[in-house]
Amino acid sequence: MPAMTRPSQSAEDYLERIHELIEAKGYARVADIAASLKVRAASVTVMVQKLSRAGYVEYEKYRGLILTDKGRGVARDIQNRHATLSRFFSLFGLDAATQGEDIEGIEHHLSPATLEMLSDLAGYFEKNPATLRAFQKTRARKRSRS
Ligand code: ZN
Repeated sequence: MPAMTRPSQSAEDYLERIHELIEAKGYARVADIAASLKVRAASVTVMVQKLSRAGYVEYEKYRGLILTDKGRGVARDIQNRHATLSRFFSLFGLDAATQGEDIEGIEHHLSPATLEMLSDLAGYFEKNPATLRAFQKTRARKRSRS
């Protein structure tokens, strides 16, 4: 198994989730990671071993699974992407479940430039609520026609 240069999409998901669990509970157990990603514990063990060999996580005797600086860097980057995308999508009143699934899907694939544009666009609409309402009205009209 060669060391990962850039973590795979699922490695990013694991690091994101491990970081969230550690922030929320102080630790990340295999069972919690498995439950939260809806995968089997055996899959978590395999991925954690890969992440450990690639230098993203470590096992510490009394603390259990921890993120290295490198792992935390990836997790924070994904969390920022996730936060930017949910800030953007929440403007348009899409349902939360669809939104969440779409964000998990695309958060791995956006370039920094695109992400910055979406963040600026969210900021623009937040500062110009009348423009946002006008846009939403055209969408509502379109939907009522179809
Ligand atoms: Zn995410």
